[in-house]
Amino acid sequence: MKRNRQAAGELRRSDAGRKVLLQGWVGRRRDLGELIFLNVRDRSGEVQVLFDKGRCPAEAVARAAEARGEDVVELEGEVVLRAEGQRRADSPTGEIEIVATRLDFLARSETPPFLVEDRTNATEELRLEYRYLDLRRPAMQKNLRLRDEIAFRIRKALHERGFIEVETPMLTRSTPEGARDFLVPSRQHNGLFYALPQSPQIFKQLLMVAGFEKYFQIARCFRDEDLRADRQFEFTQIDLEMSFPSEDDVFDAVEAFLAEAYAAVGVSVARPFPRLAYREALDRYGTDRPDLRFGLTLVDLSAASAESEFAPMESALSAGGAVRGLRVPSGASSSRKKLDEWSEEAKKLGASGLIWIKRAGGEVTSPAKKNLSPAVLERILQTALVEENDLLLIVAGSAEVSAAVLGALRLAIAREMKWIDESRWAFCWVTEFPLVGRDTETGTWYPMNHPFTSPKDEDLHLLESDPGRVRARAYDVVLNGWELGSGSIRIHRADIQERVFRLLGISPEEGRHRFGFLLDAFRFGAPPHGGIALGLDRICALAAGSASIRDVIAFPKTTSGLDLMMKAPSDVGENQLKELGIRTVKTSGS
Ligand code: ASP
Repeated sequence: MKRNRQAAGELRRSDAGRKVLLQGWVGRRRDLGELIFLNVRDRSGEVQVLFDKGRCPAEAVARAAEARGEDVVELEGEVVLRAEGQRRADSPTGEIEIVATRLDFLARSETPPFLVEDRTNATEELRLEYRYLDLRRPAMQKNLRLRDEIAFRIRKALHERGFIEVETPMLTRSTPEGARDFLVPSRQHNGLFYALPQSPQIFKQLLMVAGFEKYFQIARCFRDEDLRADRQFEFTQIDLEMSFPSEDDVFDAVEAFLAEAYAAVGVSVARPFPRLAYREALDRYGTDRPDLRFGLTLVDLSAASAESEFAPMESALSAGGAVRGLRVPSGASSSRKKLDEWSEEAKKLGASGLIWIKRAGGEVTSPAKKNLSPAVLERILQTALVEENDLLLIVAGSAEVSAAVLGALRLAIAREMKWIDESRWAFCWVTEFPLVGRDTETGTWYPMNHPFTSPKDEDLHLLESDPGRVRARAYDVVLNGWELGSGSIRIHRADIQERVFRLLGISPEEGRHRFGFLLDAFRFGAPPHGGIALGLDRICALAAGSASIRDVIAFPKTTSGLDLMMKAPSDVGENQLKELGIRTVKTSGS
């Protein structure tokens, strides 16, 4: 006979008087002699179970006395309302407890290496080694359920808009994202290798040529890059592509599914998202992934400092760089120590120094005051709208470094001053990225996104004469200073693709060798198309309020790329290598 199993975490005061059967894991145990309390947990939550020597069969009491954390038990009992003083507001089941009449062990547990509780002082290494125990912790259960909910909502939102999910191969060849590939040796074709996809980029473009018009996939991607809190070798993208789209169509689809996704955590997402051109983002926020939860914008002081004879400003401007400022309202009270700290930070980020000016008590103070003529000083203060009690931070340098340094200080200061409204969810689009960047050492051009990104029509004429000024039809979606994803409208004309390849130094032969199948496909009527890919791990980490994507991935790797639980990577047998035609020269780590 099937017995109804009660979800532990769902019991409430209205259940008082019910007889229930529970199966789950033992959490904390308190033995008070006459009374033994066990917390019993299942995926729904936890409930307190009481074994009272006066009321409970001796056998059950004896077992309860023996029970240890992580034993799997089955028990029966009655739900009772706790006495007034014993109720706990910090637990959803805190108003009741179960007075047990039976207890059986379904499985015993050895002493776990750490307590399975949200508050843990276990190191992350230990948690990853025993990930199945770590995942039992309520916080991790909640994270993975949130991930499931978000993925489900995204699928639903896209499906309802006519997107179809198509799986693309894992064993493929190098894709154009430009990171290092993971290679898989072929047994049947010794000496040849598959590459794991860095993204489904080429396949999704081919699906557009194939006439599907609206594709998406929650796709696993692989990039052999150095890992950080927000990177893993394998990660999950919400990848999509559309035919005949304008940027607005792509933005609309993405905004729609993000709104659905974040509704899962009660966030109502304001649409449409604000848009900023890349230049504007850099000039105002010092970064292409601006955190718009607070104001505090950079100002260009280049014109105001044009006549300055102060060496750092003069040399920056004569080298074609910029002088930029950041006004910190009420920042004049910043201590010398703080200013030194920020200067150090600025230098670490590549600035030659940080110039500061304070206006307080009707006076202007600055270590650079003696180097600036009164007229230049006044122009700077006026341009930056510096008021009484304000502090102005200035960096002179290349356009990029001055922006990046002040952009980083902007964030650091806002954090320190607690100016970030943590309840805000500030999405935005950054558009009009440069098509290409230039390697300062070799002087060669590289794609800012990938080589299939379309230049803007109105900049096409600059492709050969002034490539650095060509803007791409590329876009990023940003949330609270995190890049959630990027994409572009693609090139679908062979002549433009050839010109871009030429600019990137990809010869016709190399183009054919690497992407021949795509170029061939384009000869048979390729529709205009474009798309985007967003990081699901990041979307979930932000929704969960977590600083690391590892917290929303069931089995992540460490920052050095190790799977501590499965012990991967691992060595393989000689036979396996022989079949693959591989002889190892050196085993890494040995
Ligand atoms: N495949 C690109 C990436 O992974 C995204 C895109 O252009 O759609 O960055």
